[in-house]
Amino acid sequence: MNTLKHLLICASITLATCNMSQNKNIKDANHSKNPYYSRTDTKVLNVANEEWKKILPDSIYQVSRNKATEEAFQGKFWNFTGKGTYYCTVCGNVLFRSDAKFASTCGWPSFFEPTRKNSIIYQPDTSHNMVRTEVVCGRCQGHLGHVFNDGPPPTHKRFCMNSIVLDFAPDDSTKVE
Ligand code: FE
Repeated sequence: MNTLKHLLICASITLATCNMSQNKNIKDANHSKNPYYSRTDTKVLNVANEEWKKILPDSIYQVSRNKATEEAFQGKFWNFTGKGTYYCTVCGNVLFRSDAKFASTCGWPSFFEPTRKNSIIYQPDTSHNMVRTEVVCGRCQGHLGHVFNDGPPPTHKRFCMNSIVLDFAPDDSTKVE
């Protein structure tokens, strides 16, 4: 019985270490060469695409600056349920709380409201023969996704986001569940 208990404790510690290391990687990998990234500075950025191209990994650049869409059910957050805060991975702007995330069947992380009104900007989008509302970051103007009117209460909005342009910071990275 003691051996089983010991194994379970070891497994928990390994899992916790992996989760913490994963969170650290999400945070560090994309920002070490990005002087504009800040989770506290809310000043609006005006950075040319040529500059972003030098700073961002190509996969992030393609979504944020070229409005590409990641494949459904492939992103890291579409079915993620951790408690914490989501930020723009390009500039660090706070975007969503996990409390506003809901299980959507669309294959992309979906939220019913942003954290604050100025977090995002809405823009009409008529590309691909569709009439949609594009959602861009209020600080860096990077493409995040689209918003639709088929979300759950209380807002009935569905902010359909690309995981690759989101960062996640857990409320307590040391907490083992
Ligand atoms: Fe941003």
